[in-house]
Amino acid sequence: MSDLQAILDSIHTELLPRLGEGKVADYIPELAKVDPNQFGMAIATVDGNVRSVGDADIPFSIQSISKVFMLTLALGKVGESLWKRVGREPSGTAFNSIVQLEREEGIPRNPFINAGAIAVSDIVLSGHAPREAIGELLRFVRYVADDESITIDDKVARSETQTGFRNIALANFMRAYGNLDHPVEHVLGVYFHQCALSMTCEQLAKAGLYLAARGTNPITGHSVVSPKRARRINALMLTCGHYDGSGDFAYHVGLPGKSGVGGGILAVAPGIGSIAVWSPGLNKVGNSQLGAVALEMLAARTGWSVFGD
Ligand code: GLN
Repeated sequence: MSDLQAILDSIHTELLPRLGEGKVADYIPELAKVDPNQFGMAIATVDGNVRSVGDADIPFSIQSISKVFMLTLALGKVGESLWKRVGREPSGTAFNSIVQLEREEGIPRNPFINAGAIAVSDIVLSGHAPREAIGELLRFVRYVADDESITIDDKVARSETQTGFRNIALANFMRAYGNLDHPVEHVLGVYFHQCALSMTCEQLAKAGLYLAARGTNPITGHSVVSPKRARRINALMLTCGHYDGSGDFAYHVGLPGKSGVGGGILAVAPGIGSIAVWSPGLNKVGNSQLGAVALEMLAARTGWSVFGD
């Protein structure tokens, strides 16, 4: 696998002329300030090696990628009973869609659209003050990434708190349907802070390694989840991780993946490694445009697609 670095380098070189493609998320004012011409990619393989290229050491707002870590925590807390409150089907609608939530009486389609993630945050919040739930998540992410330097960007959290009107609406809908146990302000306090986790591609690739290695981080030896749970989280990432672009991502890349409006994507090659890519420009459905292209190139050049090489 020594040519992995060469593959990363070639992807970077080929994408250089395209940097800046897509549109930076501007509905969160703090994200609108991010320079769109950045690109980083890192791969952590199950043998413990980390390879990277470009801006892989620059922290960015992981946004919805945090939903994977929060789901892992919530499943650890309440197990399969989580699925009474959240579905496991692709939504076919935008990540912040309100219509479907009303039609389906406050039960979000899956844990990776905003409504589902807000319900998951409510589960992690139970028995805690919001500050403690955020602390629990931060400790968890530092643990899986084996990196104590990871932080939450308070400016991003504040920016979203001031402008997150759709999320406030989603949370209120769910509260009205009895699918939130805590006050909307508390749940969203947790949700906005989890989305504001700031990580580099290298940190994120390492943090996702447990999903590629049957639930155990091969670098630290820490058992994070059972092999069965890792497999199931991967299944959800494959079917729901890119919102109404999930089918397209599976078609082009063929790996479980989770995107965020900060322009990051975490992808998992089961048994092989965990890949993080970051390019802030988004496509129409809110997924990193060049991030997906880079992953498509990687999958084509390595044969890592779960559907065959
Ligand atoms: N914090 C963002 C929001 O709630 C996360 C969305 C995303 O990354 N797709 O709108």
